[in-house]
Amino acid sequence: MHVLRSLEDAQALRADLLTAARLVVVGEGVLGSEIAATARTLGVDVTMAGPQSAPMALQVGPMVSEMLAELHRDNGIRLRLGVGVVGLTEVDGHVTGVRLATDEVLPADVVVVAIGAIPTTGWLADSGLQLDNGVVCDSRCRAADGIYAVGDVARWHHEQLGALVRLENRTNATEQAAAVAGAIVGEDECYAPVPYFWTDQFDVKIQVHGTLPAECEVDIVDGDVSARRFVARYRTDGIVTGVLGWNMPKQSPLRRQEVVDGLAVAADRVASTT
Ligand SMILES: Cc1cc2nc3c(=O)[nH]c(=O)nc-3n(C[C@H](O)[C@H](O)[C@H](O)COP(=O)(O)OP(=O)(O)OC[C@H]3O[C@@H](n4cnc5c(N)ncnc54)[C@H](O)[C@@H]3O)c2cc1C
Repeated sequence: MHVLRSLEDAQALRADLLTAARLVVVGEGVLGSEIAATARTLGVDVTMAGPQSAPMALQVGPMVSEMLAELHRDNGIRLRLGVGVVGLTEVDGHVTGVRLATDEVLPADVVVVAIGAIPTTGWLADSGLQLDNGVVCDSRCRAADGIYAVGDVARWHHEQLGALVRLENRTNATEQAAAVAGAIVGEDECYAPVPYFWTDQFDVKIQVHGTLPAECEVDIVDGDVSARRFVARYRTDGIVTGVLGWNMPKQSPLRRQEVVDGLAVAADRVASTT
């Protein structure tokens, strides 16, 4: 059974995949979907299991996650989604399968569990800092006087989104570090980035700027869904909250400004109602 956090984890997983016949990936989020696609490309028989109805449903919403489901199926991945995983089966210390809540067992030589990460804040338990799914910070990423948090562990008040936000991606870790460095030397600016991530699966590159709540209105603003090259724009109450590019690496970043403008409008609305 594998998890994937470090280079050593990746090397151990690759070594096993090179000799494995059947892989079950537990978790249908970004990491699970990328692992499944990569293993399938190596020629492994892959099943993906998880409680959501389609790959990355929580990250990209219903339309694009259904397209991802089709992409994975077309490439030979078996999707056993919409049902929870309750445990592993093993014989003589070797994993033999994954047991679902329905009691069905998915046979496997190798299992990867990619069900999310929990911030390591236990060592701060007696610090007096507020800990709640990360280190809770103000809009300057300040946890307390002279104490800041950055990266995956930081859950800070995003002024424009009007919410506590914790982002797990490299772009945020880098940009937030720069913002905190500025705060330490006396700049007084809130940290309010447009969240960004990308993922490569099979021959598809997806880029997401902003947020894509499931109940958003979605319209295609560039390209064509049937041609599998498009940019989708996501709006809530008429305000653009995010854009998603599917195999449009040059075009989708050009739409980022619409998200910046949308964040500003949303912040004005919040300010005028408080
Ligand atoms: C498999 C995988 C794939 C990913 N792919 C992407 C991707 O494609 N694009 C993307 O943008 N992001 C990706 N990410 C996320 C990205 O790696 C993280 O968002 C980024 O590394 C966060 O940086 P960080 O410095 O906050 O945390 P980390 O990189 O996790 O670094 C935290 C460090 O703190 C150390 N540490 C922990 N506790 C203590 C302590 N008490 N004292 C001292 N040190 C401590 C840890 O050992 C670690 O070295 C991926 C993550 C994983 C696991």
